[in-house]
Amino acid sequence: MSDSKTNMVAPPEGVVGEGFFATKLNDVVGLARANSLWPLPFATSCCGIEFMATMASHYDLARFGSERVSFSPRQADMLMVMGTISKKMAPILRQVYEQMSEPRWVIAVGACASSGGVFDTYSVLQGIDKVIPVDVYVPGCPPRPEQIVDGVMALQELVRTESVRRRSSPEYKELLASYNL
Ligand code: SF4
Repeated sequence: MSDSKTNMVAPPEGVVGEGFFATKLNDVVGLARANSLWPLPFATSCCGIEFMATMASHYDLARFGSERVSFSPRQADMLMVMGTISKKMAPILRQVYEQMSEPRWVIAVGACASSGGVFDTYSVLQGIDKVIPVDVYVPGCPPRPEQIVDGVMALQELVRTESVRRRSSPEYKELLASYNL
């Protein structure tokens, strides 16, 4: 029998009484979404290896509710782009993003995905935010698994505090329109 201690996620702020707990819908939805992010790994080179280590037993992304890796954009909500993205690859990445349903979030893992990295050349996209909006950037070449976990936790914070109405707000529509999405 395991003697490991299970840590529960803290409940959102609310009013507690005997037999009831009241809180805001925003907080409950945010809590559920933040702890069940399903990753879609878009890994093209070395940073992908760090992601494999992040998923493996030592770092174990399952601790954050993200063990269910999806290779179908329609069943994922956290797009993790890891590796050098060539300009020829950019339309494919964009198509994958378009196939994800809302709400969807994007993490640029490593220098290449964030800015092109050391590959300041004619063929490499100088950051995926040239073609899709990015929520979190993880620095490093490559970033260690701890940094990737840190990036996921930063995204969790963002997801937890995001309003359920954000996706239909004029600001969000404007952001997508600036990418012709
Ligand atoms: S950031 Fe570095 S480690 Fe990551 S894909 Fe680019 S060259 Fe490879």
